[in-house]
Parts: sequence; structure tokens; C-alpha cells
Amino acid sequence: MEVPVTSKIQATLIPGDGIGPEITKAVTAVLDHMGQPFEWDVQQAGMAGIDAEGVPLPQNTIDSIRRTNLALKGPLTTPVGGGFTSINLQLRQEFELFANVRPTKTIKTDGRYDNVDMVIFRENLEGYYIADEGYIEHNGDPEGKVYSTGYNTKEEARRITRAAFDYAVANGRKKVSIVHKANILKLLSGMFLEEAREIAKEYEGKVAWDERIVDACAMQMVMYPDDFDVIVTTNLFGDILSDLAAGLVGGLGLAPGANIGKDAAIFEAVHGSAPDIAGQQKANPCAFLMAAGLMLEHVGKTDDAERLRKAVIGTVQAKDRVTPDLGGTGNTMSIAEAIMDRL
Ligand code: NAD
Repeated sequence: MEVPVTSKIQATLIPGDGIGPEITKAVTAVLDHMGQPFEWDVQQAGMAGIDAEGVPLPQNTIDSIRRTNLALKGPLTTPVGGGFTSINLQLRQEFELFANVRPTKTIKTDGRYDNVDMVIFRENLEGYYIADEGYIEHNGDPEGKVYSTGYNTKEEARRITRAAFDYAVANGRKKVSIVHKANILKLLSGMFLEEAREIAKEYEGKVAWDERIVDACAMQMVMYPDDFDVIVTTNLFGDILSDLAAGLVGGLGLAPGANIGKDAAIFEAVHGSAPDIAGQQKANPCAFLMAAGLMLEHVGKTDDAERLRKAVIGTVQAKDRVTPDLGGTGNTMSIAEAIMDRL
């Protein structure tokens, strides 16, 4: 008997905790239905990691991602106190996931704007997220003053900018906006801007670019979202602006994100583990599905990615069997079934 040759792509699947397992079930059902290309190695992290192996980020999970270089990750609860550092932060550092890529496109018809289509490239390893913080004595109070420092390196500034420009060229995007606060943070943000300009020059004639100061940029994104295409910026600004962008199209319920490194990539929904609705089948799996769509794109399955995206958008717009957060009376599996019916 012939042994069938598997052409599947090895990938790590981390269901996560809270609503993670429920939305993972829905997402794998939809992907199976469309004849998905992935062979999952299921691993635990977060509270599920503590339950399974006593730590929030088990070595088996790290080893699996190191082997597959590709993961779809459910939301992970970061326990408050107890000295736990964010697992998401640990994963970023462990796999040097230097780019957080957040596409935002109008899906819901009741979003504020109908034609939003922007992709934010956020530097993921440096900036103020280094958060080297401490107390300084002030007016006799030993904790009267606090400080927080961060750093940027030329290397990462260049790497994230190049990633944004490469993406723009590969995807026929028209413009890259470099976002900074170099007028005040003359070194931290100024160096980022200088390096980004140097990289931008290499793409002269291939894609247009401009520069924006972050505060003005926030206002312009709200007033003229059509004016934005690809945005590249430092860690903290990127974090804030990408949530702002999600707000333009109706919130985090449908927002996916990718964490990309030189070797590995991890895809996730932007929302968290939603402990308030966990176990109730109320969770909307669409953001996690859109994350799976980004993963399909990442491995070159662009047709499948587009098919999935269209099915999700069609379902949400028709309010077909959708979850309560989308104004429906359906549940996690019913919306997944509605999506499958459109595939
Ligand atoms: P959250 O995103 O989990 O929830 C915020 C609100 O949105 C809640 O009311 C929740 O019910 C709702 N919500 C979130 N996802 C939903 C979905 N798919 N369908 C329907 N409703 C949804 O944010 P939080 O409450 O601030 O965080 C809870 C936990 O998640 C924390 O431990 C936090 O650290 C963690 N978190 C993890 C990630 C991640 O793993 N990427 C991201 C953000 C927060």
C-alpha cells in the first residue's frame, strides 16, 4: 500500500485560554472545511500552559515554534501580579519578532468610514516598551519622581522600515508614511526618522512616502483615513495608532495581527482572552479567522486567504447567525457555520 505523501505545512497551534479554545474550535472547523494547508502541532501557553506544564510558556511550546517557524496563537491571559511577564512579550523576544503588522480594512457597514484600508508596521522589540523604570527622590519623597526609558537602534529602525517598504512594493501599495515625534524626542525618535528616510530613498520611484508627526497623524487618521496606506513607526506609537485604526472600522472584534521575524511568524487576534464571556459560546471567532487569513497569505496561499476574507465579510455584513457583539443572537459555532456556507 502506498503511503500518502503529505504536502501540508507544519504549524504550531496554541489555543490559548479564556475564549481561546472556543474560537480555536471554530477556526479549525472553518479551515478544515476549506481544505486547509496546515498540519497542526497543538501546544499550550498562558493559563492552559500553567495547567498543563506548570509554566505559562512551556519549553515544548517554544520548541514547537522553533521547529515550525509558524504559529497561530489564541489569546493568553497575563496573570496580574505574581511576577509573570507578558507571554506575548516573551514570544516576541524569544523569536525576535521585530515587526507587528496590523492591517485595518473596513468590514462592517456601520463602521465610521467605508473606505479604510491601511496597514501599520510597528517596531516590536524596542522603544518605550523596554520600560526601564524606577524611582527618584523628590522633595523628600523617595518615590516622588519616576522615570521610564527606552531605546531605539539604527538596525531595528532600518529593518522595520525596509519591511514596510517591501510590503508596499509587493502589495501594490501607493505610499508609506513614516510616523515620529522627532521634534521633541530628538534622539529617540529623531534617529528613527533619519534611518527611515535613508531606507525610503532606496525605494525612490517604486513607492511614494511622507513623514508625519504622531499627534498630527492621529488627527489626520480620524479626519482623512483615505489618505493613509502603509504606516511605519516605533513601538508605542504603533500600538496606539493601530488601536485607533481599529476604531475607525468598528472596533477590535475583527482585527488580526501578525508578529513577523526573520525566521518565525506568529499570527493572532488583537483582542484578549475575554474572561467575562469565556465558556459561554458568545465569543466572536472572526478576528482569529482573519489572523488565520494573514497566515495563509504569509505562506503564499493568497487565493485561500481572499476566499476566507470574503466569506467572513459576507457573513458579518449579512448579520448571518452572528454573535452578540455583532448585534446577533448566534454563537461561536453558528457564525462559523455561516462562514462555511459562504466558502
Ligand atoms: P479583552 O480583549 O480580552 O476583552 C475586552 C472586551 O472585549 C471584553 O468585554 C470581552 O468580552 C470583549 N471581547 C474580546 N474579544 C472578544 C471576542 N472575540 N468576541 C466577543 N467579545 C470579545 O481585553 P481585557 O479584558 O483587557 O484582557 C483580558 C486578558 O487578555 C488579560 O489577561 C490580558 O492580558 C489578555 N490579553 C491578551 C492578548 C493576547 O494574547 N494577544 C491581547 C490583549 C489582552
